[in-house]
Amino acid sequence: MASQEEVFKKLVSHCKEYGFVFPSSEIYDGLGAVYDYGQNGVELKNNIKRYWWEAMTKLHENIVGIDAAIFMHPTTWKASGHVDAFNDPLIDNKDSKKRYRADVLIEEAIEKYNEKVEKEVEKARKRFKDSFNEEQFRTTSPKVLELIEKRDALHKRFQDVMNSPNGIDLEAMKQIIIDEEIVDPISGTRNWTDVRQFNLMFSTEMGSTADGAMKIYLRPETAQGIFVNYLNVQKTGRMKLPFGIAQIGKAFRNEIVARQFIFRMREFEQMEMQFFIKPGTELDWFAKWKKTRRSWHEALGFGSHMYRFHDHDKLAHYANAATDIEFNMPFGFKEVEGIHSRTNFDLSQHAKYSGKKIEYFDPETNESYTPYVIETSIGVDRMFLSVMAASYKEEVVNEKGDTRVVLSLPPALAPVKVAILPLVNKDGLPEKAEEILKELRYDYNCQIEVKDSIGKRYRRQDAIGTPYCITVDGQTIEDNTVTLRYRDTMQQERVAIADLHKIIGDSVNISSLLRKIEND
Ligand code: ATP
Repeated sequence: MASQEEVFKKLVSHCKEYGFVFPSSEIYDGLGAVYDYGQNGVELKNNIKRYWWEAMTKLHENIVGIDAAIFMHPTTWKASGHVDAFNDPLIDNKDSKKRYRADVLIEEAIEKYNEKVEKEVEKARKRFKDSFNEEQFRTTSPKVLELIEKRDALHKRFQDVMNSPNGIDLEAMKQIIIDEEIVDPISGTRNWTDVRQFNLMFSTEMGSTADGAMKIYLRPETAQGIFVNYLNVQKTGRMKLPFGIAQIGKAFRNEIVARQFIFRMREFEQMEMQFFIKPGTELDWFAKWKKTRRSWHEALGFGSHMYRFHDHDKLAHYANAATDIEFNMPFGFKEVEGIHSRTNFDLSQHAKYSGKKIEYFDPETNESYTPYVIETSIGVDRMFLSVMAASYKEEVVNEKGDTRVVLSLPPALAPVKVAILPLVNKDGLPEKAEEILKELRYDYNCQIEVKDSIGKRYRRQDAIGTPYCITVDGQTIEDNTVTLRYRDTMQQERVAIADLHKIIGDSVNISSLLRKIEND
């Protein structure tokens, strides 16, 4: 069995080899943590976005969409807190000249204690074989208990540093790195600089210098475009509370440590929905959105064991509930989506900084108030990675031990739905394939492939996740039937061209996923 790390490496090269994801400007050796989506990647990504967009706007009559600009008035980011507080603590190693997130180094040190515990357990399991009592060992082994005690002490110290009353205590953070004897994985030394705060926003200038250029930011999240348009949408759409505004768009963060492929990028895409509600109802709506969003994920069919909620113990000062939906990636459970109860913080801040009244007049109670907000925020690229990781499979296909790589993508997300393959490139078969294409292409994304043996073509379609292959042969010309091959079972059957629509039907359309979501 390949290790998780090997599987992940294979997945990354598969993404490149089959036109899903390329490093940005690769001919110039790429650009750190920036990626381009290729011919198949863009289709998959668009399908993910469509699935989210339609789940939000078609399944909820009270949710509408917007598309705000990436550039926003710079005061937006003062009001939102990003200018003053959107920071990561960073530390440099003087020998390797590499930069790290100090908090991540400490989190990794905590995790190392867990790994050491697991090693002890495994060692004991081998030693005691069948008589091994894991529960007892974990609770009584002096070595394990010592490791757990050290881990918990470090965790507590780290939490105190992060929650110190005047913001993160940078000196204490460095002291932990010294005390824990954390070494740079590259140079192997402990020659660290002090810890500094680093703002994650990219900035640029708007206007010529003669006019007085204005420093503006590339938005680090899409949400603020929704908040500043709350009044516009509420008034022009005559929206009544509760209602939501959905948006999909690019966001930019100058991440210090960019690793794990498209999991952490400097330019990425978010799908965010802000749901405006009456104050006091937020915890009910928070629970409802947790359920609805999890159901959206689970409708893809990867199994509910692939997801878990991670409720936050430490909340931002304005939030009164927050959770992450984590996905079982090849490198462990990781955040894909955040659901946050943000009170009226953002709207109140924009009211304060703009001097405009941003409220809702409730016709039922005849009072005005600032709505509360539940936010659901998911990264398109992380979602893409989770779908690819869960779909990528290496399978043995026969007794000889031949293998295939198949992407068992949910058919509604697959880049190509139907591949039409003339058995040979002559005898009128390509023309017949063209005829079938013209019949199907209004409903499904189709592709004709004529090169190579039929086996090789099947493998290529498996590798990009095409759910259906249609083979056109001599008999097709005589009786208008084709061989239909199913990706997952590899079964083949002879069917009439006229029946193709009925068989493929709805299974490849986004609506087939939408029907599986539980909506109250
Ligand atoms: P993390 O803790 O991993 O940095 P975050 O908590 O800062 O993420 P949010 O600000 O809640 O993330 O953003 C919402 C979603 O946007 C995340 O759940 C994730 O899917 C996505 N996202 C955030 N940062 C990145 C990034 N650098 N690259 C890709 N996706 C990202």
